[in-house]
Amino acid sequence: MTLVVKVGGAAGNSLDPVLADLAGRRDVVLVHGGSDRVDQLGAAMQRPSEYLTSPSGVVSRRSDPAHLEVVILALAGGVQTDLVAALARRGVRALGLSGVDGGLLRAKRKEGTRAVVDGRVVRVTDDWSGSIEWVDADLLRAVLGLGLLPVVGPPAITGAGEIVNVDADRVAARVAGALGAEALVLLTNVPGLLRDRSDPASVIPRVDRAEIEAVLPVAEGRMRKKVLAARDALDAGVGRVVIAPSTVDAPITGALAGRGTVIQ
Ligand code: ADP
Repeated sequence: MTLVVKVGGAAGNSLDPVLADLAGRRDVVLVHGGSDRVDQLGAAMQRPSEYLTSPSGVVSRRSDPAHLEVVILALAGGVQTDLVAALARRGVRALGLSGVDGGLLRAKRKEGTRAVVDGRVVRVTDDWSGSIEWVDADLLRAVLGLGLLPVVGPPAITGAGEIVNVDADRVAARVAGALGAEALVLLTNVPGLLRDRSDPASVIPRVDRAEIEAVLPVAEGRMRKKVLAARDALDAGVGRVVIAPSTVDAPITGALAGRGTVIQ
């Protein structure tokens, strides 16, 4: 069974249980974000992160050229290398691939991004973020065929060879779709999609494809991206998507057994 697992990058995520649960599995692609690491490196480089809220309420990182450099250093240079090394310590041979490497993630730059600033909708220029158009599934299959575990993350590359930042949850969805994965597991710092964000016991256990639009209003901020990514993945033919906690023992095994929110 082909499985795609995405590990969260926000504060409060646990990596050790995820890596322990990955070791010994075959046909797995690990996708990572790393928002916390980008924020920390940006602050250290005196390039603090800025966020944009779209008119429909989706929050995204602002990726001007100075900040895009922070993203490249923190993710492709930092998080990804650390994940490959941490897997090596568990006896797993992993290969880190940003979306730029081998043209793995082909993206289109978002033109004319609009954002809400002080209650008004403004047009943002100078933003180098994009949306994924195509994933080189053959490249991932070749890496898997060598017995290596691909570790994949932003940024991505445009047809013109420009580097653009992309959302890691969307990366995971598109990778899972391109591989025809049976399951996509989105591990995060909360127990699942919560009906009431302040109540960790309010996990919505199951959402059918037809109910996604109805649950979107409870998913705020970055959780909304996960629900939208889940919709992308199902529409691309992925069997099921599970939004589940990274902070428990055997988080992947648990998610596949139904812990968290199963969307199918
Ligand atoms: P990660 O880096 O783990 O991928 P994000 O920070 O991107 O995680 O997204 C998870 C966050 O989404 C949670 O920490 C929570 O603050 C927020 N959130 C908003 N609405 C909800 C909801 N309905 N249920 C769960 N989390 C929510």
